[in-house]
Amino acid sequence: MADNKNNNETKTVREIKMGDIDLEFKREISTIPGMEKLRLCFQCGSCTADCPIARFSDVYHPRRLLRMTQLGMKDRVLSSDAIWLCAACFTCVDHCPQGVDMAAVLRALRNLAVKEGVMPNVFRELTDNIAQTGYAYRIPELRLKRRAERGLPDLPKSDVAAVSKLLDVLGVQKQKEQK
Ligand code: SF4
Ligand code: SF4
Repeated sequence: MADNKNNNETKTVREIKMGDIDLEFKREISTIPGMEKLRLCFQCGSCTADCPIARFSDVYHPRRLLRMTQLGMKDRVLSSDAIWLCAACFTCVDHCPQGVDMAAVLRALRNLAVKEGVMPNVFRELTDNIAQTGYAYRIPELRLKRRAERGLPDLPKSDVAAVSKLLDVLGVQKQKEQK
């Protein structure tokens, strides 16, 4: 399985040009908590071989994302749809022989992507839901009615104003409006 994955990665690899490298991005990312061991990755591929998402995806290669991050390929890595696929299951963290926190790397890359105004529509919708209802998913009226019919307690009410304020403080609304 790991061999097939690595063969596929080799086949689809693209040329790296000097213009792809952003030294400021390299510096910025190395200061983020959780990135301390980023430079220790020696590309063994265990993270990709053991990742449950990579197993079923042709585009998701944690090892490759990490190498691109090490090199400072800001534009290519932050615009990649692949950074949004990590399920944060931490399997790769447990298996990495170098103690690299891949889940933290992916989390940091997504945060930086949002800062740059890059956010997939599905996450924009989830953010809207949280801002407007306090829940990530809008719960249909019919389901609420069925809960009541079955004697289940009301769902906890969220403080929408406080949630909205928190999203404002975090700059989420501003970033969301950029695109
Ligand atoms: S398992 Fe660790 S050392 Fe190996 S490629 Fe992944 S991050 Fe790098
Ligand atoms: S934390 Fe992300 S990259 Fe690591 S194994 Fe889980 S899904 Fe894959």
